[in-house]
Parts: sequence; structure tokens; C-alpha cells
Amino acid sequence: MNRTLVNDAPTKIGEVIRLEGWVQTRRDHGKLVFLDLRDRSGIIQIVFKASKEIDPVRQEWVVQIEGEVKERPESMQNSEIKTGMIEISANKLTVLSEAKTLPFDIETDGYEIAEEKRLTYRYLDIRRKRLQGNLTLRHRLIKFTRDFMDEKGFVEIETPLLTKSTPEGARDYVVPSRVNPGKFYALPQSPQQYKELLMVGGIEKYFQIARALRDEDPRADRQPEHTQLDLEMAFVTQEDIMNLVEEWILKLTKHLEPYTGKKILSEPFARITYKEAMEKYGNDKPDIRKNTKNQNVLAFAWVTDFPLVEWSEKEKRWDPVHHMFVLPKPGQEKLLDTDPGKVISTQYDLVCNGYELCSGSLRIYTRELQEKVMQLIGLDMKEARKQFGHLLEAFEYGAPPHGGAAPGIDRLTMLYANEPNIREVIAFPKTGDGRDLMMDAPSEISSEQLKELQLEIKKVPKKK
Ligand code: ASP
Repeated sequence: MNRTLVNDAPTKIGEVIRLEGWVQTRRDHGKLVFLDLRDRSGIIQIVFKASKEIDPVRQEWVVQIEGEVKERPESMQNSEIKTGMIEISANKLTVLSEAKTLPFDIETDGYEIAEEKRLTYRYLDIRRKRLQGNLTLRHRLIKFTRDFMDEKGFVEIETPLLTKSTPEGARDYVVPSRVNPGKFYALPQSPQQYKELLMVGGIEKYFQIARALRDEDPRADRQPEHTQLDLEMAFVTQEDIMNLVEEWILKLTKHLEPYTGKKILSEPFARITYKEAMEKYGNDKPDIRKNTKNQNVLAFAWVTDFPLVEWSEKEKRWDPVHHMFVLPKPGQEKLLDTDPGKVISTQYDLVCNGYELCSGSLRIYTRELQEKVMQLIGLDMKEARKQFGHLLEAFEYGAPPHGGAAPGIDRLTMLYANEPNIREVIAFPKTGDGRDLMMDAPSEISSEQLKELQLEIKKVPKKK
């Protein structure tokens, strides 16, 4: 007999079926024992005659059940669940796996449980309906996105995870090379340089559901790795890219509305310059909702006309506002020599309800201008030519004008799922200070591993 999913059982009244899943609850009523059985589709009531087989079965045991699908008397029907009009009269039970008492309740939404505990037992936390819903929503979002990009003629291309350390903005995670002792790979802060090189390679329309890894200082709502819809296009204007991203968000929001109830505040998206945003809202990720209590409204807005660089008093140098590959707006280049702080760039950010969701820009595509910006932000040019030689040289072999963006998938899913932080929409997130409590990472490695890598650990003082 094939397995039937719980939520398909109502179509099989009168038939004997086989179900498999977890025991969610058990209620003993004298001669009868009631189990609620849960599988990925839903939950269903099973009725057993009290017996020595059913006696030991407890919550979260994994069982296989055969029985007849019976309509419940009207007074016993439960309209709150899909299977509420039926129950299974069991005639066979097979225990597939026993379970210890769980460290926490999985029938609630889980917000009341200490997060450290939830993350330590994440594989149990994921059994929770809310988490199942969030991960499924994330899947739907990514599936829709891939189909949308494909329809628009984009090609998904994977770029390496082991790459070279370059000063791109954040700190790199580094990976020692055993085969090349003393040398290190870096994990990519984003596929930025690769996607630009793909444009030089004639791909013209690239995207990737990509992981970006940044060794940044701990902050509650930050993850060492996050997922982006990374995209890049050749021969485009700023408007072309903004329109593409906007169309994607509009269609995606409609596609997900049956699951999220979320609606867009206004379309086309509001547009606001960086200067206006700072003056009116005091920050560059304005929440343009009039009434922030309205939970089901997503207020998207574009922020444009960012400065190219800003002065860092601490470092005594000009820092890129987005990154060093951003193209200044036409006509702004001459200010680079005279008044760099006044140069307006082609950067555009998409914000929603006060969160930054996406940054992008047109890019520099000549060696001359790229070197000029590198110099402006204080890179040692001898070093820079070594570190970015691949990109600078590529620009000398016929680089098309290009630009792109990288919407953050975690944040976007968080907003659609109405969750307070991105950890709730990531299957296996890390804590605010970058630890995976379930795997116990990061962790020490063996002295053999260190030896192979020709690395030595200096004793470091214990973290307070
Ligand atoms: N690579 C950039 C980032 O990760 C986004 C972009 O400019 O496309 O922020």
C-alpha cells in the first residue's frame, strides 16, 4: 500500500489507507486512544482501541498507521483543520522511530522559547508550523524569482566560493590552502567582481541566487552569510535595472499574496533622493508609511542620487558609499579632482518599511576611471594593481557598459513572512555573534589539520 498524505485523506472516505508521520498529541479516553498524526501536509485524528501496542507510543514518535477513513459525526467535526470532518479508525500500527521528550514545545509559534535553545535544537524547531511555513515561503520566493529571471533572458551562473582576498568593503573570511602553504583563499563578500567579468565575457544578462560572506562585527540582525539575488546586465541604463527590479517585486508580491496577505502601498514605487531622505527622515532607508501599525502593507521606495564617496574622519580618507566599482553620474567625473564629496553616483537603493533591501548601480568600465577612484579612496596603487589586476586588465579588452543590483533574499522573505528578524527565515542561522549552536561552529581544528596547513595558533586570551 502506498503512503497517503494526511491532507489527502478526506478524499478517501471508506478506504483503508497508510499514513506516516509524527505523533503530535495523545489523548487517552478509557477504551480508546486518540493520536493526532502530523506530516508535512497537515494533521489528522487517529482512533485506536487501547492495546499493548499503542500503550508506549508518545509525542513525536514516528509511526506508520493503517486504517479506515471515516466521516466524523457532525457534532464531532472540527472546521479548523483540513481533515476535521474525518478520522482514521486504525487497525495497524508500526513504530518507525521512538523519541525522547523534546527540549521545548513545538506546537506553539516558539517566540516564547529562548532562542539559544531553539538554535541548538534547530532540527526540532523546524518541525514547528511557523518555521515550515517560512521555509516554504522562501522556496516559493526563490522559485518565482528564478522563473522570472529566466523569462527575462537571464542566465544563472555559479561563481566560486573560494576566491581571492580583496579590500571590497567588509572584512573577508579566509580559508588556508593546504596545497599552497602560507596562501589563503577568501570567501566572496559578493560575486561583484565575477559578475562584472561575466559582462566582459559577453554574458550580458547574469543572475545568481548567491551567498555573500562578510566577517563583520556582531550585530543582532546580521548574519555572516546572507543570500542575494545577484544580477548584472550589459548595455543598460539605471532606469532599465530599476524597472526590472520593480517589476519583479510587484509580480512577486502578487504571487505570494495568497500566502502572506501582503500588499504594496503604492506603485510605481516612490522615489526619493538621498538628500531628501536625509533631510526628511534623517536616514537613507526611509519608512514612508504614514501608519506603521498597518502590518500588511509593504512600502517600497527607491533612494537615488547618493554621493559616490564620503569622508571618514576616523580613517582620514574618502570611503565609497556603496563600493568602489560604482559609476559617477554623467558629467560628475570632473568633480573627482576638485570636490570628490560632491560627486553624485548612479547608485540606487530599494528600501521597504525602513529596511534596506537592495543596492545597485551602474559600474565603472574603463581602467582609467577605476584607477582614479581607487586612488581617491586611498588604495596604494601598486597594491591595488596586484589585488585588482584581473579587473583592471579586463577593462582593457572591450568591456561593455554595465550595471546591476543585489536584492537581499533573507530580508525580503522576512518582510513577506512578517517576522521580526532574518533568523526566522533561514533554516540554519547563526547567532548574533556568528556561532552555529547546533553544529558548534566555529570550533577548534585538530593539531594534524593545523600541521597540514602549516599553521600555528598563538594562545589568544579567552573572550569575555
Ligand atoms: N555587490 C553589491 C552588494 O553586495 C550589490 C551590487 O552593487 O550589485 O552590495
